[in-house]
This record gives sequence, structure tokens and C-alpha cells, in this order.
Amino acid sequence: MNIILQDLLELQTLEFGEATGKNIEARVAALRAKLPPPIVGHYDRLRVRGRKGMAMVRNQVCTGCHMRVPIGTITELMRGEDIQLCESCARYLYLPDSAKTEVKKPEETAKPKAKAKVKAPAKPRKRRSVTSAA
Ligand SMILES: [Zn+2]
Repeated sequence: MNIILQDLLELQTLEFGEATGKNIEARVAALRAKLPPPIVGHYDRLRVRGRKGMAMVRNQVCTGCHMRVPIGTITELMRGEDIQLCESCARYLYLPDSAKTEVKKPEETAKPKAKAKVKAPAKPRKRRSVTSAA
């Protein structure tokens, strides 16, 4: 992903309260200082209206406004060299990380771990006939 988009996405995650932890304010300040002012400016214009400045592209559709994103825009995003705005809602578009690696790696099915213990369900032994003893 484009480095600016990465930073902007992190900024959005921090500012929209989706991140937890310490030093969020410091991270926000650092990111804002790092990002180009026009980028932050546009992001802020959306933010003050309560809208997120970034929208993920999923299935060639902007998740911000659910409008179709031109394939040329997606190609540009995949190359990661430029920043693209949604033509419809003007959000910064980004692709999920998995978009580039759609092919599943065979690691998961490679070898089942021999160590995997099958946890036996703990059977509490009930002592019968405690209460109903003759
Ligand atoms: Zn959109």
C-alpha cells in the first residue's frame, strides 16, 4: 500500500477510536506532521462532518458509498504509487491487504501439528446415590 495511505489509515484508526493503547495523541500528532498538508486537509474536511476520510475497496466497490470503482483506479491502487479518490464520495480509497494475495498459501493444510492435544472433556464424576441412598 502507498505509504501515505498507510499513515492516513493509521491516523483514521486512531482518531475514530478504533485503536486502544497509550500515546494515541502522540501518534496522531506524529502522523499529522508526517502527512502532506493537502492530504490531511481533505481528510479533515470529511472528518469534521463525521465521515471517515478513507474507504476500503471491496469487490471493486467503494465501501464508503457503495459505488463501483473504475478498474483503472483499482489498478493504480494495486501499484501503490498514487493516491486515488472515490469519484462518488471523494474518500481516499485503499485496498485491503489481502487483495494482492488472493491465492491462499498452502501452509495451513500442509501438516497437522502432531502436538495438538485433543482435550478430553472433563467428566465430573457424579457420585450416585448420595442423596437417594437407602
Ligand atoms: Zn465512495
